Amino acid sequence: MNRMRTAIVGGGIAGLAAAYELEKARAAGAAVEYTLFEARDRVGGSLDSEIVDGTVLERGPDSFLTEKPAAAELCRELGLGADLVPSNDAARKTFIVVKNRLVALPDGLMFLVPTKLIPTATTRLFSLGTKLKMGLELLHPPRRAEGDEAVAALVERHFGAEAVDRLADPLLSGIYGGDAAQLSARAVLPRLVEMENEYGSLTRGMLAAHAKMRARAKAAAAKNGAGNGNGAAQGAASARSIFTTLRGGMRQLTGALEARLEPGSVRLSTPVSELKKVKDGWLVAAGGDAELYDAVILASPAWAAGVLLGPVDPELGEELGGIPYSSSITVNLVYDETKLGPLPDGFGFLVPASEGRAMLACTFVHRKFLGRTPPGKAVLRAFLGGMKNEALLTETDTALVETVRRELREILGIEADPERTQVSRWRRAMAQYAVGHQERIKRIAARVAALEGLRLVGNAYDGIGIPDCIRLGRGAARELVAKFESHETVVG
Ligand SMILES: Cc1cc2nc3c(=O)[nH]c(=O)nc-3n(C[C@H](O)[C@H](O)[C@H](O)COP(=O)(O)OP(=O)(O)OC[C@H]3O[C@@H](n4cnc5c(N)ncnc54)[C@H](O)[C@@H]3O)c2cc1C
Repeated sequence: MNRMRTAIVGGGIAGLAAAYELEKARAAGAAVEYTLFEARDRVGGSLDSEIVDGTVLERGPDSFLTEKPAAAELCRELGLGADLVPSNDAARKTFIVVKNRLVALPDGLMFLVPTKLIPTATTRLFSLGTKLKMGLELLHPPRRAEGDEAVAALVERHFGAEAVDRLADPLLSGIYGGDAAQLSARAVLPRLVEMENEYGSLTRGMLAAHAKMRARAKAAAAKNGAGNGNGAAQGAASARSIFTTLRGGMRQLTGALEARLEPGSVRLSTPVSELKKVKDGWLVAAGGDAELYDAVILASPAWAAGVLLGPVDPELGEELGGIPYSSSITVNLVYDETKLGPLPDGFGFLVPASEGRAMLACTFVHRKFLGRTPPGKAVLRAFLGGMKNEALLTETDTALVETVRRELREILGIEADPERTQVSRWRRAMAQYAVGHQERIKRIAARVAALEGLRLVGNAYDGIGIPDCIRLGRGAARELVAKFESHETVVG
């Protein structure tokens, strides 16, 4: 009987999810084999955490969005359901640094769109001119976008330049390490583009969407209530936190995935150096050997995939290499809470580029997720770098910690010495969905479709977050297995 041999290139969350899905198929009796090649000496890619003296320290992502189900579903499937921790949304207040002072994001902001009159009118975040523009925004006529544009252009048209500087830019650099002047409105904020098209005013569009959502939730609650007389309880139980994490850190997920894979199927410290399309499949060169595979799931960053695919299809290689990436740095600082003194009441703060600081954001980790820091300890996590400040990557750990401590002193007045610090650098780790991204992805998909047995997965294509990477990784593996099995049925 034929067996489908698959090489997975890259053991980040996307590659691991693909391998896990192939393993499930194999365990269920499908004739599949797989090898996962990872350049580093560990799997997980950007997901990397450690527990030091009972404190979870995340080097990379600290959580995933709860509303995208793929990550929590996978955790439950792996038996980690009891370790899922919701964000402590009761304390979810985010601040923006304005002239060295923290100003809370006004209540009622949805996807950068103000929806509540009084908080918008009274906030110190915006000048009177911006507030007037926000009011007049309700009168915007519908506008059919002709092509893609930068997020900054869309936001500025509706709410003015200050809203780009104090809202769009810091929020997006906190997520993408990106720049609102370069990120694609269609790829990053598709809902806002649709709303402008339909309603003109984003505020009116957002309010209408919210009203529809509430009506749907009410109808669902009424249906449940009629069925079991327990509608209110169901409603409360289904109230979801914004973010979800794991009690033992994000590495719990990558560790559980790795543990499920067939022994011997993971090759660490083995970068794939060459891919060749041959008549019977793909020749994969790694660690001084070249082996034949029927299929290849490329789960490396797009720039690395571009290097491998350039000799196979130069145009594809160029398209992949054209997807920009940003680099970032995280700095964790662990404090004795009594020495640290009181912190503002919230999850943390974001820093607009106009403030001229190294820090893009800072999270009060022990507040965002409860139960991952021992009582009496506090963890502050600073996020630095991004498209506008790549040069920081060359600075020493000591210099980076000093910079973060100086900025924390100037912004929050923190004088205390941290008990522990940890610096992590992430070079070219975060794909940037630049203007025209979706068109580029269509061109890439068309070229990939012409290369039998090839799949591309990871954060460069259809969602930057962990749940999207899991969805793409598992989906690619399922597709390959289904295609192979249907072919075997026809031929066999
Ligand atoms: C600091 C930081 C914070 C983040 N915060 C969040 C968050 O809170 N929530 C969220 O949802 N997302 C967050 N993200 C984004 C998310 O973590 C990533 O988008 C996601 O983990 C990317 O997974 P991936 O598998 O596509 O790529 P990666 O994790 O980059 O994995 C790719 C792997 O491919 C390997 N590789 C490259 N070339 C080769 C080769 N030739 N041969 C073999 N292996 C190769 C690399 O070594 C790497 O391990 C964050 C990212 C960073 C960097």
